[in-house]
Amino acid sequence: MMFAAQEIPDDTRRAVNAATARSRLPQSVMLSGGSQALREQCAKELCMAALCAAPAPGTQIPCGQCHCCRKVLAGTHPDVMRILPTGGRKTVSIRDVREQLQETLYKSPTEADNKVYLFDGADALSPQIQNALLKSVEEPPEDVMFLFLCEQRESMLTTVISRLTEYPLGDTLSAGQREEDEAVTATAKEIAAALASGDEYTLMLKTAPMAKNRAMMAQTAAQLIRIVRDALAEHSGARLLSGCDREALLLASRYDAPALMEIKAAMDRIVSNAAANANENLLLTLFSCSLAPVMKQRK
Ligand SMILES: [Zn+2]
Repeated sequence: MMFAAQEIPDDTRRAVNAATARSRLPQSVMLSGGSQALREQCAKELCMAALCAAPAPGTQIPCGQCHCCRKVLAGTHPDVMRILPTGGRKTVSIRDVREQLQETLYKSPTEADNKVYLFDGADALSPQIQNALLKSVEEPPEDVMFLFLCEQRESMLTTVISRLTEYPLGDTLSAGQREEDEAVTATAKEIAAALASGDEYTLMLKTAPMAKNRAMMAQTAAQLIRIVRDALAEHSGARLLSGCDREALLLASRYDAPALMEIKAAMDRIVSNAAANANENLLLTLFSCSLAPVMKQRK
């Protein structure tokens, strides 16, 4: 299933899956809202659907295994063209759009049958650039997909939005929430890396600051569950979804499936105990003490 991440609205998930099943993926797409990591993940899934060399017959459901899918996941597929600012500037200029997009628009893809032009941070595109893109977005060449990732859809011209199929990914995070979200992800990554390295001291060091913060402990545990799921997925050859590929692969290289299941069970306990308002000291003890013994199973 595409767009499996829990936080994605059901309507969006249904729309994307129906479109890929019927091989009717729209050519001009906007992914709006959600976190940056979620937008990037969904963009990869759409790029795979557009470029996959071995989709399920009659569909655009990507296989996740072919050379195209693998390159998309690794961020190295030459037919995914990210429009980037040049010359040390922070935002894309009209010249960047001309050189990176308009001059290549009608050239054949390099490896796949299709190609994707990807605008990350599309809400930062000037009205002038958005206007310059109107015509291409309205009638893209047959083998082209446009993908606009934006946090605040309000920053995009309605004339552009009306020509795009929008897949909302959920509420946009406030600045404060985003910082918190990043802190949680960073901590979860560090704990996963500590588990992979077998470094109990670092594990203790990374869990300690959460002592007085029940919500952060629960969120970090939830993020660790996603990373562990990815490590398990790596063992079974399935797709990674957490956005923390590096840490998931590290865990997969050091722990077999039963040990990973133990880590996941420990984190499940944290999440449910935090929801039941368990004492914070108890939670912290649970956090580090249930992970330490699993470390003994490290390969
Ligand atoms: Zn594929």
